[in-house]
Order: sequence, then structure tokens, then C-alpha cells
Amino acid sequence: MERIYLDYAATTPTHPEVVKAMQPYFYDKFGNASSLYSFGQEAKAALEESRQKVADFIGAKPEEIVFTSGGSESNNTALKGVAFALRGKGNRIITSVVEHHAVGEPGKFLAKEGFEIITLPVDSNGLVDPDAVRKALNDKTILVSIMHANNEIGTIQPITEMGRICREKGVLFHTDAVQAVGHLPTMVSELTVDLLSASGHKFYGPKGVGFLYIRRGTKIKPLIQGGDQERRFRAGTENTAGIVGLAKAVEIAAVEMEEEGKKLTQLRDALIKGILKAVPDSRLNGHPAQRLPNNVNISFAYVEGESMLLNLDLEGIAVSTGSACTSSSLEPSSVLLAIGLPAESAHGSIRFTLGKWTTQAHVDRVLDIFPKIVAKLRAMSPLYPGDK
Ligand SMILES: *Cc1c(COP(=O)(O)O)cnc(C)c1O
Repeated sequence: MERIYLDYAATTPTHPEVVKAMQPYFYDKFGNASSLYSFGQEAKAALEESRQKVADFIGAKPEEIVFTSGGSESNNTALKGVAFALRGKGNRIITSVVEHHAVGEPGKFLAKEGFEIITLPVDSNGLVDPDAVRKALNDKTILVSIMHANNEIGTIQPITEMGRICREKGVLFHTDAVQAVGHLPTMVSELTVDLLSASGHKFYGPKGVGFLYIRRGTKIKPLIQGGDQERRFRAGTENTAGIVGLAKAVEIAAVEMEEEGKKLTQLRDALIKGILKAVPDSRLNGHPAQRLPNNVNISFAYVEGESMLLNLDLEGIAVSTGSACTSSSLEPSSVLLAIGLPAESAHGSIRFTLGKWTTQAHVDRVLDIFPKIVAKLRAMSPLYPGDK
């Protein structure tokens, strides 16, 4: 049985070309980029070449890119780094209810440290209202952090609009662009952001490496202190192989992103249409149009997400019931609750996320198997009133 992976939002396979680019940096070119002899200089050169590629990809300068261990570290650095750098100026930080835990949890931490965290609501499509951002700004506001695209429901926020409001008021604006970088255009000048987080393994790069864009002149404290690496923004011997892999992933995205987006949008829409048609009492979550090209999130009445997930797994199809981080807990997804779903519907939701190696045949197979799974599970449910 061919296994079908439809959880690209959780992580992507590492592109074979990325693996190939990384390979020399484990043994032949293993030097420490801080060493002065040639082994080190070789690593240093690879590092700086990678930094240039990443910078070009988002329209930044190389010195504005700090390599990190991934999206979580980038988000933590952005929030805590700005909070501690600007605590003399103010204590209000504005964010939203649909942020990833890697923004939400540092937010809770900062609240205990005396910062005032304003968590903006979203509408039923998962959108934050830019006007709500404007109204929440006061003279104590030091940072606004709103994600670019949501990992669960795929909704794309009006980042540029919010960025302009913040820039106009002189307030720093951070976006968690982990689901967007490598998939959507993410030029920082267009987005009007001061800080932007990205992660390699969400766009065919390796796990454990990412970057934080820090606009020149932005005041920020480092999270990790030690050596002088990354211009003292992030201590620790650089993950040369990982960073070279990340840069390769960026290079591939620069070439393939646009076409891939078109292909995925078609497959996505075929999957959405097919499921909504074949399964009664189902509804799409997230914005119908302002949505990631690869995201399908649907709620099914009278069935449990976990039961659907496990039955699909028996057929070799991998999906998610929410975000990977929350799927092992029994709490309904906070994102689905935030868009107004009752807890039962949130529990009966499945996220399919498509990617580079998804084909029409995969979509057809899901459309063949999945409606039968739902029908079978509903037939066993005491809550199910029967097909109308
Ligand atoms: C995956 C993800 C993260 C965390 O990135 P890691 O590299 O896994 O730490 C943060 N934000 C969003 C939106 C994500 O999808």
C-alpha cells in the first residue's frame, strides 16, 4: 500500500537536493565557522553565502538575518527579546487568539513578568481586524505580533495593512511567517514588518534550523548568550549543515513556489469540493479565499477527529486533527473555538495539508476512502440522527 502524507503543515520531507547540499558539511567541511584556519573559513564562507541567499529571498540585508534553531526559537527571541529591550518604554504587547503556541506561550510568560498582553479576537474566517490592532495601540505598546498564515485553518492575515498601521505609530511589528515563507511571497518591505520568523522544515528544509529577520535598528535582547556568533544576537556554534540546507530550500522555493502554489490551489479546491459534496454535515474552516494554497480544514458533525485520523492511518493516509502540538491532548483546538465552532465541532475536525509531492491520484484516493470512513463511524455513533 502506498502511504499518502497529507500533513505538510506539521513538517515536510527534506528535499533530496537539500540533503545533497548539506552532505559535505558533516565530514569534509566540518569546521567551526569561528576558527581562523581554512576548515573554519570554509564553513564561514558557506554560512555567509547562505545568509545572503536567505536575505535576498525576503528582500532583506544579510546582516538582518539571524539563524536560529527554528520557528519556536525565532518567535521566542522576537517576543522576549523586544520585551526585555523595551521594558523601559512600555509594557503592552498585542497579539491574537490564533497564534501558534510558540507565540502564545512566550506571551503568557511575559504576562507573568509584568507585561500587558492584549489578545485580539478573530472573525469566523479566522481574520484579525486591522482596525482592532489600531484601537489596541497605546503609548505603552512596544510590540505587535500577528502570524502571517495560520497553521491549522490556513487563513492568511492582512499583514501589510497591520504593518503599515504599526509603522505609522512607531510600534515594532513581528510576524510568525513559518507557514508562509517558501509558500507565499514574503518580501519584508511589502509586508512592512520589523521582525519575521521562519523555519526550515516547513518548506522542505531540515528540522532544527530557521531564521529571524531583524530589521536594522530594531532594539532586541538575545535569548541565548555566550560566544559572538550571529553578531551576538544568538550564541552557539553555527549549525553549518542545517543553515546550508535552509539556504538550498530557499533557493528551490524561489524557483518553484509560484507554480507549486497554483498546482496546490487546484488540488486543494478539488479536495474541498469533493469532501463537502460527498460528506453530509461537513463545513470548511478558515477563510474560503484568503487561505494557504495547501490547507484543507473541515469539521464533520457526529464524528470524532481522532477516530477519523486513526481510520485514515489504517489506509496509509496521514492527516492531523488540529496542530501537531495539541493533537495528543484532548482539549479542542483553541483556533477552532476562536472562529466560533462549538467544542463538538472542533473535536470533529480534520486538517489535510498538501505539498510538493501530492498528486491528483492522492486526492482521488482520499475522496474514495474518506467518505466511507465517515459514514461507517457515523453509523456506529449514538448521536447520529441518520442522513437527511
Ligand atoms: C511549525 C510552526 C512553528 C514552530 O516552528 P519549529 O521550527 O517547529 O519550532 C511556529 N509557528 C508556526 C505557525 C508553525 O507552523
